[in-house]
Amino acid sequence: MAREIYAYECTKCGTLHYPFRMRCKNCGELEPFQFKTVPLPKRGKLLTFTKVYNLPAEYEVATLGLGIVELENGVRVTGQLEVDDPKIGMDVVGVVDIVRQETYDSFWGFIFRAA
Ligand SMILES: [Zn+2]
Repeated sequence: MAREIYAYECTKCGTLHYPFRMRCKNCGELEPFQFKTVPLPKRGKLLTFTKVYNLPAEYEVATLGLGIVELENGVRVTGQLEVDDPKIGMDVVGVVDIVRQETYDSFWGFIFRAA
């Protein structure tokens, strides 16, 4: 079964938020934030990327590519990047998988590959 990562859509104005925040950044200054969860799209464009060395021990790889991707709906997310020769602006597609494993917890996130 495909896993999803969810954004939080304001039920008043439709603004999408990711990650979760306590108030709608568009209209929620006074009202409690009412939202519904919507799955984030998997396709987007690579905005920027970096390579990380000397990772903490809970990452089981020596180096890690990290990218910031603007998804089709305009939400920006950070994810792992598994692209040999990344280019800013390239199309990428994400899968949701375990990106970090600690003793009692697994952390799910996007892993992006060339589209
Ligand atoms: Zn709103």
